[in-house]
Amino acid sequence: MSKGTPSKEGGKKTHIVCRRCGKHAYNVRKKYCASCGYGRSKRLRNYSWKK
Ligand SMILES: [Zn+2]
Repeated sequence: MSKGTPSKEGGKKTHIVCRRCGKHAYNVRKKYCASCGYGRSKRLRNYSWKK
């Protein structure tokens, strides 16, 4: 082990491509997309209290 990619904690990727919005913003650990909110809520970012 000399040269190579420095591995961080876990070595796993944190964000993957969201299958809903297609952006690389789906958080694997938190299990939700930071862009469209997939996995966080059933629907797209929609706040019922905000009219
Ligand atoms: Zn998304």
